[in-house]
Amino acid sequence: MKAQRFSKQRELVLRTVKANLIHPTALEIYGMTRAVDPTISMGTVYRNLNLLAEQGKILRIKVPGGADRYDGTIEPHNHAVCTKCGMVMDYSYSFDDLSSQLEKSGFKCEELNITVRGTCKNCLTKALNNDMEE
Ligand SMILES: [Zn+2]
Ligand SMILES: [Zn+2]
Repeated sequence: MKAQRFSKQRELVLRTVKANLIHPTALEIYGMTRAVDPTISMGTVYRNLNLLAEQGKILRIKVPGGADRYDGTIEPHNHAVCTKCGMVMDYSYSFDDLSSQLEKSGFKCEELNITVRGTCKNCLTKALNNDMEE
């Protein structure tokens, strides 16, 4: 079967998500793609992000209380989300350790997806500096 033909703008959206490891929001992706192709619309960016996520070419990450973020890394990995600035960081965790633990209770694991919430290095440093100024 021949690979599905991508529109030029869809390819641009895909390339932008893949090239940016910061897990950008749709709005950020729109800004970045617009710098390359000024004719691209917000609607096109949204439509293509949805389509690419459905096709499994990118990941959509739900951020509680914030805008969805998009991830070009589709290999299994986990996220740590900063509750102050919304930064999303990748981390990996051993699936085998956890699944063998759960399988002892008769639970068969298929996918591991643990999102950690906390404060990123930048925000911690900022908070620390603010404390010192007080
Ligand atoms: Zn932060
Ligand atoms: Zn990620």
